[in-house]
Amino acid sequence: MSSLTCAKLILFSIAGVVIQIIGLSLFVYGFFPVKPALSGISGTESFRVPRCNSVHNESEGDLPPDQLKALYEELSGIHPFDRLILMVIDGLPAEFVLGKDHQPPPKALMEAMPYTQSLLANGVAIGYHAKAAPPTVTMPRLKAMVSGAIGGFLDVAFNFNTQALLDDNLLGQFFSVGWKMVMLGDETWLKLFPGLFMRHDGVSSFFVKDTVQVDHNVSRHLGDELSRDDWHLLILHYLGLDHVGHIGGRNSILMAPKLLEMDEVVKMIHTSIIANQDNGQGRTLLVVVSDHGMTDNGNHGGSSYDETDSLALFIGLKNHGSEHASYTVNTVYQVDIAPTLALIFGVPIPKNNVGVLILGTFDSFTDEQHLKALELNSWQLFRLLQAQLPGLSCENSPCESFIDDQGPRKSKCNGNLENMICCLYLNATVLHSSWKSKNVSRNLLTYLLLELQQCCCHA
Ligand SMILES: [Zn+2]
Repeated sequence: MSSLTCAKLILFSIAGVVIQIIGLSLFVYGFFPVKPALSGISGTESFRVPRCNSVHNESEGDLPPDQLKALYEELSGIHPFDRLILMVIDGLPAEFVLGKDHQPPPKALMEAMPYTQSLLANGVAIGYHAKAAPPTVTMPRLKAMVSGAIGGFLDVAFNFNTQALLDDNLLGQFFSVGWKMVMLGDETWLKLFPGLFMRHDGVSSFFVKDTVQVDHNVSRHLGDELSRDDWHLLILHYLGLDHVGHIGGRNSILMAPKLLEMDEVVKMIHTSIIANQDNGQGRTLLVVVSDHGMTDNGNHGGSSYDETDSLALFIGLKNHGSEHASYTVNTVYQVDIAPTLALIFGVPIPKNNVGVLILGTFDSFTDEQHLKALELNSWQLFRLLQAQLPGLSCENSPCESFIDDQGPRKSKCNGNLENMICCLYLNATVLHSSWKSKNVSRNLLTYLLLELQQCCCHA
């Protein structure tokens, strides 16, 4: 009897250990997934059709910044803006500005941001709920916005000991075309991009009791910076609102005054942009974003709606359609900000970006520019997919089966993932070339846009 119990005990112990190992493996695989990523930095090849036998022209990488900038402008054909102001309001839920479920925000919040609300109502600003991926803490979220790639949960640990960002990203792309950059606010930026800013004044994000000085330290330089014309990118990272949340939660009595303070900053920047437009400073785009939202208690880090509901507000892009009226639910992903800004400013989309162009931001561009932007986005995503899906690699690509003697043909898409991607991608290519030779009637443009967007989304 006792030997039977002993044998059973050993069996149970072994089973227990096996279950633990399986559990641990599942946990590790889920939280720290290993994704094949492309190494290196996007260059001129990103403006060309992805081909298996393409020859990489090394000499283009050595061009001086101004020549590289001119080359990118020529290749992309999109260059409406000269300067970018990226204002990050840490922890601001998009709901505070854009409302929820087709309803405007509560009256108190509307009245706390009168200028921003007037920009939205007049179509001067286009606002989006930019869904952030967990973990909803600052460092990984900033990385997602500038690289378009989604990190893992390991970033939570790195959030406290930020290392320089070596992956391809927007700031690196801007630097390579000779942009001068200034950063004021959260010092996380300085840790991610050491040596990149020509002027900076960083503040620490860990003194959460301070809701006043932390923002005053940013705003005190603002008047001076706005009057200068020696920078191309100005980053302002305001931490005060996140600190208000940590102290008193979403409904803190300090929230409305803080929103009003942020609204004043938006007003100051926007009026200065309008005033300086004809002074030789060129066209400036203001983008107001938040890195993450917050729970009722003002916490963040997890994946709830309240924590992932971050903001992307584009001020200065003319908005034509009524579909972008203030309180409709325009939801995009936070990673979509990276390709959108890369395309607006005509630099290559970062290599490992998984984001898709935010279509509404291109409303005021020509149809050709709109399609060109989508084409560049789909080329970049196709290259990334070739690295991530072995079935799409050059050796086993199923795409050839959709091409006959006359070139790619339009077909009905079905089958496995690789077939679907090839089919959608080539359909878009066929329609795009017909559009360029004007064989497609103008009302087919919408269909073409959908097809391209679908191709990007499937990717
Ligand atoms: Zn926080």
